[in-house]
Amino acid sequence: MQLKDLYQKALGFEWLTAEEGVFLFEKAPMAELAHIANELRKQQVPHGKVTWQIDRNVNTTNVCTANCKFCNFYRVPGHAEAYITSIDEYKRKIDETLKYGGDQLLLQGGHHPELGLSFYVDLFKQLKALYPTLRLHTLGPPEVAHITKLEKSTHIEVLAALKEAGMDSLPGAGAEILNDRVRRLISKGKCGAQEWLDVMRAAHQLNIATSATMMFGHVETVLERFEHLAAIRQVQSEKPEGHYGFTAFIPWTFQDVDTLLARIRGVHNMTTAEEYIRMIALSRIMLPNVKNIQASWLTVGKQVAQLCLHAGANDFGSIMIEENVVSAAGAPHRFTYRSIQDAIREAGFEPQLRTQLYEFREIPGTIEEQVITY
Ligand code: SF4
Repeated sequence: MQLKDLYQKALGFEWLTAEEGVFLFEKAPMAELAHIANELRKQQVPHGKVTWQIDRNVNTTNVCTANCKFCNFYRVPGHAEAYITSIDEYKRKIDETLKYGGDQLLLQGGHHPELGLSFYVDLFKQLKALYPTLRLHTLGPPEVAHITKLEKSTHIEVLAALKEAGMDSLPGAGAEILNDRVRRLISKGKCGAQEWLDVMRAAHQLNIATSATMMFGHVETVLERFEHLAAIRQVQSEKPEGHYGFTAFIPWTFQDVDTLLARIRGVHNMTTAEEYIRMIALSRIMLPNVKNIQASWLTVGKQVAQLCLHAGANDFGSIMIEENVVSAAGAPHRFTYRSIQDAIREAGFEPQLRTQLYEFREIPGTIEEQVITY
């Protein structure tokens, strides 16, 4: 394998194999990788702006039976701190979200053993009746797989009912690393890699926009990361012509503070800033059919995220008015609507507010400079 041959392939938007990705990850000089990824970004996102979003993560319930070893958020059924969010609580949080300029709820929760399809259908319908313009970016493949199992149904039937009730898009949550060896070690109670991909295939059939993620820096090998990228690329290539498919890819690092993985297994996130930037560049290179690559400022911080904008990333994600899951495992970073734009400008780009579908939005006049944390 020669670096220059792989560079030519990458610049021609050809598919690199997982092994070729590993070779570049291990051997290519950082500046060359960043240069190639930057060239690809310029062609895939010619407007050159860096997009960002305002939304709020609200959790439907913290009750979960999946027992992921990196999760400090969940509570077992019957626990004194277990909750299901009430409609009054949603109203309060949505009113605040709108006031702070948000247009969407990222609505996710645990695998509650008693909440089936009718719970989510009723919830989405109620929220849409109360707030017809609010976008619902909801659940994730493991939750859809869990509901499908409870209902003894199919992914297509469950997703069609959720879409009909008000689901606007499906986040790529719970992907971690799409490899069952890894999943057995860190998230045994969640759906397997194949089912995660199959839920996404079903969503793409129904033209539900989705995103894809990767949480790395724990027990996976470098090859497993690149097989994950190849699997995402394959599913994207199967989407019906004209359907949204994966609108973005978002790699982020394992946050280890107080997690079972760290406490019991001694697994810590050892990902360096350089390694994260290399993964961003190689995500751009490995995924020629996914237009938007997002830098996860929440887990790597402002400076590293800014460097990612020169290594293939074109999106800064959301300012996340509220986020509970990653923050509970140590992610300390915060942005406001002003500071996220300042950070993008400092990196040499023009900031642009967007929707979940990457349409440009005007910054609402009602926006207020504040971040709510709980
Ligand atoms: S990450 Fe999600 S599925 Fe896993 S334990 Fe936490 S709430 Fe449950």
